[in-house]
Amino acid sequence: MANEQEYQFAINLMEHLVTATFVLDRDGKVIIWNRACERLTGIAAKEVLGTGNHWQAFYREARPCLADLIVQHRTEELDELYEFHTKPSMFGNGYQAENWCFLPGVNQRVYMAFDAGPIFNEQGQLIAVVETMRDMTSYKSLQSGLERLVEIDELTGLSNRRYLNEHLELEWAQAVRKQDYFSLVLIDIDYFKQYNDSYGHQAGDECLKTVAKCMQDSLARGTDMVVRYGGEEFCIMLPGVKPDHAVRIAERIRQNISKLQLEHKASQVAGHVTLSCGVASLIPSGEMPAEEIIRFADDALYQAKAEGRNRTVKIGSPH
Ligand code: GH3
Ligand code: MG
Ligand code: MG
Repeated sequence: MANEQEYQFAINLMEHLVTATFVLDRDGKVIIWNRACERLTGIAAKEVLGTGNHWQAFYREARPCLADLIVQHRTEELDELYEFHTKPSMFGNGYQAENWCFLPGVNQRVYMAFDAGPIFNEQGQLIAVVETMRDMTSYKSLQSGLERLVEIDELTGLSNRRYLNEHLELEWAQAVRKQDYFSLVLIDIDYFKQYNDSYGHQAGDECLKTVAKCMQDSLARGTDMVVRYGGEEFCIMLPGVKPDHAVRIAERIRQNISKLQLEHKASQVAGHVTLSCGVASLIPSGEMPAEEIIRFADDALYQAKAEGRNRTVKIGSPH
């Protein structure tokens, strides 16, 4: 009887715990679905108690929850099933995992953090697995916001070099896999040191902002981005774009900047601000590192400068 009372006490405690909690028995059936869990998921205990349908509270398609993986000794699948997870700590044998979930009960997409741990009887047999969860959506949004923030150049609002480094490898790997064209344009403002010397650093900053906006506005594909690669150097990554098309894009940008007629009296090529563009375009082979295309574009840009500036030079395949 004492045992029965203790058991009831434990159940009551869990029912009223402020942390959303559910418990599976050793067969993976729900034996506890507490009030906080009802509130968080919008699913009433009576809908899931005694069943293995608890996944429906979190996902659209049938799949195991963290507690199921422990019951079924399938924790090696954590990598495939969760956005993030940690190994069990040295003390205790619980698991932590995080995922984007869709909670149909409240019709919301949320980022959830789950903790689950097994409970053993005195003989060391698994009798239950307890899983608790927290809604981490606002924390996650803040984190993605901060991550995006460090990828943005403060002066121009364009993506910065860190963004390029993060995304170049991914896009490059895809081009290698698909054996598709990859083009990259490096753009440098001509005689910009003289611009600063003539009009001052502040005016130089304003000029950079105007040029940046005009360049971004010149791109037709919504997904293409101008990156501020360095001081007065910009870069455009063009996955899936053929050589001739990449040259047309670079030329459109160069001409659009010329049309702005931003006065630059110290320029030795025109009375206004002009650009030099280096285009590299190729179908990457598996052995070629992604940085190679930047080096090619840099060579092309160097050539454009050497040939007199205010022009576009292409390196790579003929078409
Ligand atoms: P070139 O035609 O060969 O490209 O000559 P350049 O003068 O443009 O090239 P250089 O690399 O010698 O000088 C680049 C200048 O850009 C030097 C630097 O003062 C200026 N610059 C770089 N970043 C900024 C910035 O954020 N604001 C301003 N105002 N100027 C910058
Ligand atoms: Mg430069
Ligand atoms: Mg320059």
